[in-house]
Amino acid sequence: MKKLNFERPIIKKLNVGPSHKFGLKTEFEPLTHIDEISVKDMLSEYGSPLFIISEKSIRKTYAEAKRAFETRYPKVQFAWSYKTNYLNAVCNVFHKEGSWAEVVSRFEYDKAVDNGVDGNKIIFNGPEKTEDDLNLAVENGSLIHIDHFDELYTLIEIAQKHKKKPKVAIRVNMDTGIYPMWDRFGFNYENGEAWEAVNRIMMSNKLDLVGLHTHIGTFIMTASAYAIAASKLADLAVNLRRKYNHNLNYIDIGGGFASRNTLKGSYLLGIDTSPAFDDYAEAITTSLINSQLDPENMPMLILETGRALIDDAGSLAGTVIANKKLSDGRHATIVNFGVNLLFTAFWYEHKITPAQEFSQHSETTSLFGPLCMNIDQIRESIYLPALKKGDNVVVSRIGAYNMTQWMQFITLRPNVVMIDTKQNVHVIRQNETNKDITGLESVPEHLKLK
Ligand SMILES: *Cc1c(COP(=O)(O)O)cnc(C)c1O
Repeated sequence: MKKLNFERPIIKKLNVGPSHKFGLKTEFEPLTHIDEISVKDMLSEYGSPLFIISEKSIRKTYAEAKRAFETRYPKVQFAWSYKTNYLNAVCNVFHKEGSWAEVVSRFEYDKAVDNGVDGNKIIFNGPEKTEDDLNLAVENGSLIHIDHFDELYTLIEIAQKHKKKPKVAIRVNMDTGIYPMWDRFGFNYENGEAWEAVNRIMMSNKLDLVGLHTHIGTFIMTASAYAIAASKLADLAVNLRRKYNHNLNYIDIGGGFASRNTLKGSYLLGIDTSPAFDDYAEAITTSLINSQLDPENMPMLILETGRALIDDAGSLAGTVIANKKLSDGRHATIVNFGVNLLFTAFWYEHKITPAQEFSQHSETTSLFGPLCMNIDQIRESIYLPALKKGDNVVVSRIGAYNMTQWMQFITLRPNVVMIDTKQNVHVIRQNETNKDITGLESVPEHLKLK
């Protein structure tokens, strides 16, 4: 007979009635494998904690998004939002699938060029582009999305130095019923600034206005907001054609689709409430198709979807360090990854699953990271099977923003691996060493101790 494992006793508070409409949610099955590769084997080979990215999952999600739009609209183009996850291997999965690059800084721009993306397939967004950045982007024929009038005037000025007309679009912000409104980027639609920017570009005769862009916010749970955004951009395009007989190459509706994560404080789970790609696609394409846009010259529809394309593909596996009791008797569990690695713990109630078999005993615990900082809490309260020191857990849906917003704070960043579609595991970013961090420092001679 197999020797039974020791199970520490737990005290469970009895709740009067269910604490949730569907009863207490709990994990029913351990998550032992990702793409059929054992989580524990990966942890022993590559260390704990460990970021794990599934190439298969990226491609599957991408195919779903592409199908949702391409079945509803004639010309669709995705551009991968670098800031959402700019590990080169991740970007290149999207590029291999046909995505362009969407970048918001020179650092990201250079990354896209180094990844081998053609200059004319790089969309350059963001409020800060230096003259040097703009010159390079014009040289490469990149798509420059103008954020403010100062940038517009700079571009008109530097356009004289170039043989090619700079290819530009303007970023438009607008009221789509989503509040607070993101009105700090681009030109406002309602107060006429966007139309003024269009006129200034056309009158200058120095810039090639190829598109219109908006990015209305992030984690937008109402698909109908996109219908409003698309119809406002279509109106601008129609007026532009009427006044200048000028057709646009594209309308870029930005990113912002919700992933299937659960936002903090929401009553229902994200997997049940986030709109599907079909819902967003229906809203956007219906607006464009029913607009006054010339059916013979329909602009390409560009999407800069970030989080909804990558969240599901990323997991963070880690190890339980200890269990303890808090002063008020609540139970706490400490794991070896903190908010330094899991930035999205500030926004989401992540799905966290044990990576080994467990008994039917569950308890409510507060999940803390290893940092010596009070804010380092992964989940304030989570109902989980009893975990003990050395057990492993997997945090799901962490592919977006964590591997770019992570902090080198108190500890070093761990390995990131990608499981390819043939189930080979590749290290795509090595764990940091002290040298990687302190190599950039220098100590003045008089302060040296040895
Ligand atoms: C961040 C960003 C995106 C991606 O947003 P998601 O919410 O991750 O889809 C797209 N376009 C622009 C301009 C952005 O700044």
